Amino acid sequence: MPDTSREFDVTVIGAGPSGFAAAMRSWDFGKRVCLVERGRLGGAGVHNGALSSKTMWELSRDYRNATRRDRGFTTTGVEVHFGAVCEAVRMATDTKVEHMTRQLRELATPLPGHPGSITLVRGQAKFVDAHTLQVEDPETGERRSISSHAFVIATGSRPRTLPDIHVDGEVILDSDHIESLSRFPKSLVILGAGVVGCEYATIFSNFGQTKVNLIDRAERILPFEDADVSRLCSSNLERKGVTIHHRASLVSMRRDGDEVEYTIEHATGGRETIRVERALVSIGRVPNFEGLELAKIGVAMTDKGQLQVDDTQTSVPHIYAAGDVTLDIALVSIGEIEGRHAAERICGAPYQPLSYDNLSTIMFLDPEVAAIGINEQEAQKRRIPYRVAVYNYALVNRAIAMRATDGFVKLLVTDDEEMRILGMRALGVHASTTIEGVSLMMQSNRSVRELAELLHPHPAVTEGLQDCVRMLMGTSIHKPEVFRNDLRLSRVDYAPDGAPHSS
Ligand SMILES: Cc1cc2nc3c(=O)[nH]c(=O)nc-3n(C[C@H](O)[C@H](O)[C@H](O)COP(=O)(O)OP(=O)(O)OC[C@H]3O[C@@H](n4cnc5c(N)ncnc54)[C@H](O)[C@@H]3O)c2cc1C
Repeated sequence: MPDTSREFDVTVIGAGPSGFAAAMRSWDFGKRVCLVERGRLGGAGVHNGALSSKTMWELSRDYRNATRRDRGFTTTGVEVHFGAVCEAVRMATDTKVEHMTRQLRELATPLPGHPGSITLVRGQAKFVDAHTLQVEDPETGERRSISSHAFVIATGSRPRTLPDIHVDGEVILDSDHIESLSRFPKSLVILGAGVVGCEYATIFSNFGQTKVNLIDRAERILPFEDADVSRLCSSNLERKGVTIHHRASLVSMRRDGDEVEYTIEHATGGRETIRVERALVSIGRVPNFEGLELAKIGVAMTDKGQLQVDDTQTSVPHIYAAGDVTLDIALVSIGEIEGRHAAERICGAPYQPLSYDNLSTIMFLDPEVAAIGINEQEAQKRRIPYRVAVYNYALVNRAIAMRATDGFVKLLVTDDEEMRILGMRALGVHASTTIEGVSLMMQSNRSVRELAELLHPHPAVTEGLQDCVRMLMGTSIHKPEVFRNDLRLSRVDYAPDGAPHSS
């Protein structure tokens, strides 16, 4: 007999990708599900985040390609208006919201032969006790009480701010404000050269209407990637007119009239004050759990003030957390997997702990960068002997045909007969496609050799990966002995003092 002593079996707070996935997976088990959302369906997975920024990135790339002069045609009179770009972004996000709305509408009541239902409740949720939420509609002020056997907190994250910088949303912005710009700014400074900062530097420089400055505290952008990856991405940004203030620390940033004045201090000691039209502060995200009254119901926090979560379960056994709110890895795919996993644990599906191994990611830069497994700097940090092969897109027919040879595939394998894949980076057109096969091979712990024998369609960018694998086996079609600048093959081991040695 199902326990109907409470209104819902599972209540999910937040209808971003993590919460939506948790709700849908709970529905699979025939549960009475409640999904609470205070804002727009889709959260940052759709609005002011993954889908909106990727739509803008695609449009910016189309524009850049349309205005190139090396493709056998010259276009004239190509105009771009920021408002029209935002309209196209809104069409994309509306499409996604429509899909979500349709599904929620159709699953609101049980279907024939399926007892599950999902009730969407609009409003801001907070716990009244460990089994009861109070949800307040911000517009009407109406309050509703919801009781549930289990909960999934999927309330996401928001942009991090700094105490000394007033983000006013007009002149000094964060990533939530991009679409409120009324036109392309003539100049823009981006504070923070992480993934989001670099993606927006790519987008605005692709459109070519804005002079972009990027403030980077570190020696090079994307410091978590190998130097060759970071070098290609930064030289492409610089080629498009982006000024990267490397090793610069921000001294001050303030609105002055309708502009921004900021001062940076260079590592060499000198200070520089620059005026720009707009600033984008992009220095990470913080989790949204204030206001949920978690302390009241005994949900424990870590010493660093983050949610204490073990395999999506909080310290209160029937309360789970998924996605950005846990601040482990802020990605749609991870949020969805965590949301589904939390739902499975709640609903008693066979238990298998979550694994973040073989996580693949993609950064929407110029070119796009897809990654899986470890890179060289990580292998060296862990003193793992490895073989590495780098294969430039300049030798890949599909990239040649697309007139887009900027990029390379880099494959790391164990330095033994087995040649198990340790990691891969693909930079260039269709990079995300290139990584898929490798992701599957890593998942099933197969040897890289199997890739050498696959029959690829031609021309496909994956042929570069295949010849890269063959290069590791000494059987490539293009020979590293000839294409010394485009193909690299080496073996890295370690001296007794741990210093890496490449041969
Ligand atoms: C500019 C940008 C670009 C990105 N690009 C990518 C990308 O290319 N690929 C990728 O994988 N990831 C990307 N991300 C990250 C991705 O958007 C997030 O990891 C993902 O949205 C997290 O999903 P979530 O459901 O955990 O949280 P969110 O998407 O933030 O959703 C949380 C939801 O909870 C609601 N909520 C919060 N508190 C309450 C409450 N008390 N009551 C009711 N509702 C509440 C919010 O309104 C929101 O709708 C990007 C993020 C940004 C900012």
